[in-house]
Amino acid sequence: MSRALTVGVLAVQGAFAEHCAALRRVGAKAREIRGPRELDGIDALILPGGESTAQGRLMRELGLFEPISKMIADGLPVFGTCAGMILLAKNIENDERRHFAAMDITVRRNGYGRQLASFVTRGRFAQYEDVEMVFIRAPYITAAGPKVEILAETGGRAVAAREGRMLAAAFHPEMTRDLRVLEYFLSMARA
Ligand code: GLN
Repeated sequence: MSRALTVGVLAVQGAFAEHCAALRRVGAKAREIRGPRELDGIDALILPGGESTAQGRLMRELGLFEPISKMIADGLPVFGTCAGMILLAKNIENDERRHFAAMDITVRRNGYGRQLASFVTRGRFAQYEDVEMVFIRAPYITAAGPKVEILAETGGRAVAAREGRMLAAAFHPEMTRDLRVLEYFLSMARA
């Protein structure tokens, strides 16, 4: 097998510890990112779930926003889950803010409502059947450009997508024992 990938996990807010634990379970090196110097030498980056407004503000305050934006533009493999998907989206239907605006998708924040908004379901993700998907005040994708491949749908709504080296999921793969979505991202990062 090839050398272990070093995967940065944005660690300013949200579910970063769970992503780091999942990365270690698949044999990757996880590095928590709280400042620009920690970005040096990473092979890929995960933007975890949490609260996209808070994450966007903290990244700007910590000097992370510009360098990450540039690294994504230069082709760094990136995986945004839930709030991370919102950070990647070019358009957010119900928010004035934009963050990296790198991926040609339109998302709806808190798409399932704010109260009864968390649920678990199972479905197909890319080539994998019966993947457990944990949704927590999740967004979903309402539109996608021609270069975007929709990888998962649930209840008729697109909930995961890929565009080049960018991957986005509305659900939280790090909160299940099923590591196939993470493995999909790592094989994308190795390619
Ligand atoms: N509702 C959050 C947001 O809009 C995302 C929720 C999550 O990441 N679990 O940023």
